[in-house]
Amino acid sequence: MSTYTDRKVHRPFADKLGTGSPLSGHAVRFSVIGDAGGIAAQRAAHFSIYGDNPAIAKISAFPDDAWDPSSPEVGAKYGISWITMADLHHTARGTDPIAAVVCVDGVVFLNITLSSTLKHISRQDGEDLNGVTVMIMALLNHFPSLREMCWADDVTRAGRDKADWTQITTKCKHRDIALVFGGQRYDQRNPGDELALGALGLVGGNDDPNRRRKLTGKRLMKCKLGGAAISEMQMPHGWHQKKDRHGRPVNEGDRGLIPEANPAMIPVFGALYDAGAAGESYQVIAERMVAFEADGRLRRRDHTNLDNTYAQTVDDPLARYDAAKSFFVRSSFRPRIAPSEQDIARYLAGEDPADVFDADTRLYIAKVELLRTGRYFRRLRNDIRGRNIVLDGIPATYRDDRDEYGWFDILSAPWAWPTDDAGREVPRFGLSDDTCRKVAARLLGELRAPKAATGGQAHRTSTRRVLRGFTNWTVQPAEAGSKYDDEPTQWGVEARNNLSGRANFILLFRRESAGAGPRTGRGWSYFGPGESKPAHIAATGSLAELAASVATHLDRAVRSLADLGSISTLTELPAEEQTYDQTATWEHRIDLKRTELTQLEAEAKGHRTMAALAAGAGDDDEAKAYAAQASEVRTRVRDVEAEIARIAAKVQAHRDQQRASTAHDDQADVSVAAYLVAGLEGSARRNGEAPARLGRLCDETFTDWRLRPDGEDLAWTCAALLPLSSGGHARLPLAGTIRNVRTRTGKTLANAETVVRYVFEEGRDLTEVADLLQVTRKTLLIKRVMPWLVSEGVTARGAKCALVDHPVPAVRQELHRWLTRDPGATTATTSSAYLDRLRATYEDPDLAWGDSAVPDDTTWIAEALRLLAVDTETRKHGLPVLDVALALGRSEAEVRELVKPQKRSGGFTRPCYLAYANKAKTHVKAIGCPHGRCKGRRFASHVVLLPEVAASGYGVVCIHCRRTPATHEAWPRTQFPTTYLESWTNRGPGGSLRTEAQTVPTSRPA
Ligand SMILES: [Zn+2]
Repeated sequence: MSTYTDRKVHRPFADKLGTGSPLSGHAVRFSVIGDAGGIAAQRAAHFSIYGDNPAIAKISAFPDDAWDPSSPEVGAKYGISWITMADLHHTARGTDPIAAVVCVDGVVFLNITLSSTLKHISRQDGEDLNGVTVMIMALLNHFPSLREMCWADDVTRAGRDKADWTQITTKCKHRDIALVFGGQRYDQRNPGDELALGALGLVGGNDDPNRRRKLTGKRLMKCKLGGAAISEMQMPHGWHQKKDRHGRPVNEGDRGLIPEANPAMIPVFGALYDAGAAGESYQVIAERMVAFEADGRLRRRDHTNLDNTYAQTVDDPLARYDAAKSFFVRSSFRPRIAPSEQDIARYLAGEDPADVFDADTRLYIAKVELLRTGRYFRRLRNDIRGRNIVLDGIPATYRDDRDEYGWFDILSAPWAWPTDDAGREVPRFGLSDDTCRKVAARLLGELRAPKAATGGQAHRTSTRRVLRGFTNWTVQPAEAGSKYDDEPTQWGVEARNNLSGRANFILLFRRESAGAGPRTGRGWSYFGPGESKPAHIAATGSLAELAASVATHLDRAVRSLADLGSISTLTELPAEEQTYDQTATWEHRIDLKRTELTQLEAEAKGHRTMAALAAGAGDDDEAKAYAAQASEVRTRVRDVEAEIARIAAKVQAHRDQQRASTAHDDQADVSVAAYLVAGLEGSARRNGEAPARLGRLCDETFTDWRLRPDGEDLAWTCAALLPLSSGGHARLPLAGTIRNVRTRTGKTLANAETVVRYVFEEGRDLTEVADLLQVTRKTLLIKRVMPWLVSEGVTARGAKCALVDHPVPAVRQELHRWLTRDPGATTATTSSAYLDRLRATYEDPDLAWGDSAVPDDTTWIAEALRLLAVDTETRKHGLPVLDVALALGRSEAEVRELVKPQKRSGGFTRPCYLAYANKAKTHVKAIGCPHGRCKGRRFASHVVLLPEVAASGYGVVCIHCRRTPATHEAWPRTQFPTTYLESWTNRGPGGSLRTEAQTVPTSRPA
């Protein structure tokens, strides 16, 4: 008998292939004999591609032991036969198992650990043979039933040698067997496919893949086996390359350079990850990093600039942000699609990121996951051209249909943890799984936020810098603001936080040519060759001051508009989009708890059933045992129910709160301008921060910013585009001046000019100005306001106090206009009796007044006047003094003082508010208005206790003509503005102007 079958197959091999008639042949191969790991990865890759085939699915379910050649009895149970080299050919030598074969249903599966290039079989009568080729050719010959031959991989799996390759493809062509690579089918009856196979053969030629495998395959293998495979400066913090005692990196076979954990990083990770998980800003985290660096415990890893340090970022918030964030993520990479809130919630609740996220997302949080699991998820660029490449069991991923290279995503074998002094391993550098997940979830949550505009904040919070839409502008040579004679100057604004956390901004300039770049031009990090940033900072401003200044000037500009009602109202604005919803996390937790609850309930039911069965069978002890278990489970059910209720309540409370705040925003039917003014004022009190909605409105409203340093001042201009209800926009030019805080060292007090501008020229509230300038009212009053007033000729104590406390800002503004008027200019503005009265009152050196604008409690006086003006009869005949006193809880003497004020020594004389209604002086009534058409019909019933009103002798004005009842001098011509129809009173005894405003609006009873 020949040693070969009539199909030219060596009998020992033919016997092991068996007598089946499979339709489909499958081969996996790894080039190192006996490498269990390598071939297992090949099988896994093959199964993942052909798992839809039921027979392959069955084979994939075999345990790994079945493929272990050292225990062939296990494989035998699954029908696996082991093949030796000697089985293949009569001249072949070798009894080690080199391949396994199994037939399942219509599939014959070959598991080969053999090189496809070595000539294993020496022949004296012809070319030496490659074992793999011999095996495949024998397989094709042995089974005439085969219709396809499948590989997981590129052609190098099938055959490297061109002659071998041709032998196999030719055989398949003649036998009409399709070749399938990585799921891609080549049918050689189709000329295009034949050509493609030929081309693949070229690619699979001898030299190319060797070189490429050296480049890609080795690195891939190193990554997979947990080697470092990158320079130390590119490694994530916490690990360095393992070195021998001479400081040389240790190279360990297939793994290459070995990562070794640094125990000194345990406290560093502890602090930075806790801070990250707690949501601390990256600016603050960067400060911690600078401190660790100064301590020698943390070194910046920047493989493009080995000398880079964290300390170098100190002047640049953006650089600080990048430095801090790159500790947690690879700063150059962002996933194309941000993960959903639901996915982030699942991850937070403990699910495997591989089940939840796509590869991009896993790559984004790879550094954090390395710390959490010890395994590093990496991406290796493929440099083997061709589709459906699988290297060492890892299929390449392609960007799109036209990508011919793609990349490999690898999850490494675990990297070693650090050890403590006692030599014990410290998993996760001592961090908790939860902390790591929180840090990663935060990073992913930030990913969901839109990319910040320039000049904006450095990190994401629920609020933002209220003003940040500053686009660059250019100034021509010789114009104001030009810095260069030979070319235009480009100006721009950048956000900055000073060390105390104050939101500032800096004004930057450079040559226009230095700012030129693709599309939108260069960012503000480059200033031309050899130029450094500090030399190009022209001024520094406080964002809060800018916001307050814009609010003041917008308010003034809008008030001067003819038709206020023409401006759109807020309800016409687009609603705010949803920001990150933390209830998703809680909802997910509830889902998990509900699943647990269902299981527990089923368990309890089972126990009860068993108890009933046991009782029925007369086994009381067992019945009791089951009943006890049922009751125990019931307790756990109640615990879980309580937990669900608790989380649900939390979700509800959060939603209610959100609804309340949204409703609050939306119900307001105020004009856009009023909303902006109030919002900017509010943000000025909160360090320039504002809700995102207000910020977006500001971005849309304020355009064409120009800022110009002017010594200690910083002048700004912009245009406000206000939407009109008729459509279109009104364009209001705004201009103002704030402090240039750069010229001031430390926390020195703002100069008098700034204070006077804010308090008098712009008429702002003293407390707000004090807050803005970060000083007390007392300091502001003693050091700036009072000295200036005296220098301008306002010397009476009462006048000074009343002015700074005055509830009508226009009074301070008017006084400022008058006091600082240009003496040379003609007083062209029409001088009204009211303005004359203001000046006369406050410049009167003998003015006797209290320590505030409204020095008395006026609420009860206003109440008395309401009683007396209640109807025509009362207005005419008045009420008994006693009745009024009793009604208001006052003495008769106090009521009579409203008619005839008592002279007080040293103090000031109060004005009169009422008149006697009869000669007997038993009744009082409101004073009739003596002027014009009011005479005999109207009464002066509105209480105003301010110096300029009281100067008439009266503390009341007529609501209709806004005059006091005085008829002497200019009083009949002195009409007070409508703002005087508001009501103010004194805060009460014991207060001081130095701590707070003493004059406050009266809260009218409804
Ligand atoms: Zn009147």
